[in-house]
Amino acid sequence: MTTRRTGQRGDAPAPGAVRQRDGGGRHSRKKSYKAQWFSVTALAVLGTVVVMHPDATNRRSLAAEVVAGASAPVTAPVTGVPISAVTPVPTPTQKFTTPLRPAPSLTRQPKGSKPNVTVSSGKLAVVPGFDKASGVRDKLTYRVEIEQGLSLNGAVVAATIHKTLTDPRGWQAIHPVSFERTDKADADLRIILATPTLTDKLCLPLDTGGEVSCRVEDRVVLNAKRWMYAIPAYDGDVSLYRSYLVNHEVGHALGHGHSTCTKAKTPAPVMMQQTKGLAGCLPNAWPTIKAT
Ligand SMILES: [Zn+2]
Repeated sequence: MTTRRTGQRGDAPAPGAVRQRDGGGRHSRKKSYKAQWFSVTALAVLGTVVVMHPDATNRRSLAAEVVAGASAPVTAPVTGVPISAVTPVPTPTQKFTTPLRPAPSLTRQPKGSKPNVTVSSGKLAVVPGFDKASGVRDKLTYRVEIEQGLSLNGAVVAATIHKTLTDPRGWQAIHPVSFERTDKADADLRIILATPTLTDKLCLPLDTGGEVSCRVEDRVVLNAKRWMYAIPAYDGDVSLYRSYLVNHEVGHALGHGHSTCTKAKTPAPVMMQQTKGLAGCLPNAWPTIKAT
């Protein structure tokens, strides 16, 4: 069975080709020698072919015997993993001659999709979770609320806010306060991330003009457009701008008013309205660097 299957694969020389090279068999003795030579050669070739194709059980058995006779005992089971790691390659068919379209990349955004920071649902959702106060002074609790429909990850936003509020460069180093995040209704502060439309409503009677953020009563309202894109003066450092935004508005809640840039090329006070321009000062998010 092995020999026949191997022959069908065409791995051995074609007998017809040998006969033609012999010139039609005019000398029978010579032909006999050549026939013997052919037989020996063919067997040798077949043996080699069998060893080189260990992808079937019976051929693997033969190969195992050859290897065992040559050197070490064979430990591979007859019905287990093939001795050689030859991977069967499927035979191409007509069906696959046309190149398949590349699979869509999961990291590529659908065409035309943009993060939503402007379409307002008008509904707020509290980000669930709790971040324990890291200081020992008076606890000030806050909860994070995000307008539904915004392309923002609530957990990431909450983590960013808490990191800013508890940063050693932040208000906790100046005020006797320790910030703790909660999702309870009785939080001292509500830190809200909203579209420009909802920001304007929640900030009334202040005029935020769809561009800036505010603090009114217990509400710190952060404009999602600024949160996403910052301002040109921050030169792409959105993370730093977000910290400025949080510290500036929470600074109002702690009783701070506005200040201005008094010396060019020095850090801007965190209580300066930096969103409206830096007036020659440098971007700064931290009250310990320059608070007022
Ligand atoms: Zn302000």
